[in-house]
Amino acid sequence: MSFVVVLAIAAGVLGLAVGSFLNVVIHRVPRGESVVSPPSHCPRCHSRIRSRHNVPVFGWLVLRGRCFDCELPISARYPLVEAATGALFVAVTLCFGVTATLPAYLYLATVVVTVAMIDVDLRRVPSAVVRPSLIVAAVLLATPAVVDGDWWRIARGLVGGAALVAVVFGIGAVTQRLDASAGALVAMLGLYLGWLSWTALLLGVLATAALSGADAAAGASSEADPGGPVAVAVACRTRVPLAACLCAATIVVVLSTASASGLPALR
Ligand SMILES: [Zn+2]
Repeated sequence: MSFVVVLAIAAGVLGLAVGSFLNVVIHRVPRGESVVSPPSHCPRCHSRIRSRHNVPVFGWLVLRGRCFDCELPISARYPLVEAATGALFVAVTLCFGVTATLPAYLYLATVVVTVAMIDVDLRRVPSAVVRPSLIVAAVLLATPAVVDGDWWRIARGLVGGAALVAVVFGIGAVTQRLDASAGALVAMLGLYLGWLSWTALLLGVLATAALSGADAAAGASSEADPGGPVAVAVACRTRVPLAACLCAATIVVVLSTASASGLPALR
């Protein structure tokens, strides 16, 4: 078996395991609950999920999407989040190879899955996820740049973060829907895009401007936001999950431009 195949399998297994943990984070963090305890359990009969059924994707398939004890249906989104994280880990690993840069972009994949799913659920950017992630991302991206003495990447990353924040808030000022957490998210996405290349940053800025502009246009035509749980329920039906779209656009740009960004090739 070639090195690339072994690497892809290892990345996929790691991604599935990370995706399984992200399901817990996505469910519990917006509720202010601990991600460590209690262990995974059925929401109806409270039976603890057995370790043989807690294997990502395969556990759900073996149980045919139902609780082993009470047969309550288990949503297909759990194995889908695990499979998506696994697929992203494989794609990122094949794009970046075994380099000092790889941990930084695996971390990006982890954060975008989390933020996107929480935004789809609640139309909210979780500050408990994005604020620490901005710092972790800065450290993970600075490390390979310092090791290689490539200070230009750091400078371009800072330009990227500032550019995306300026675009989103310039357009968002119309709708007043953006807060500091959204700012931290787009600063992080811009950092990753700028670190990679000017091409990635330019494509990211264009995608961000298009998505934010479409969201602002849709928001301007609806009623003022009264806040509270009713507003969340209304927003989930009517509003596009902007943060999830920005996350998806960033990952697409990163994966499609990484190989042309002057990074060491895998093959
Ligand atoms: Zn049950």
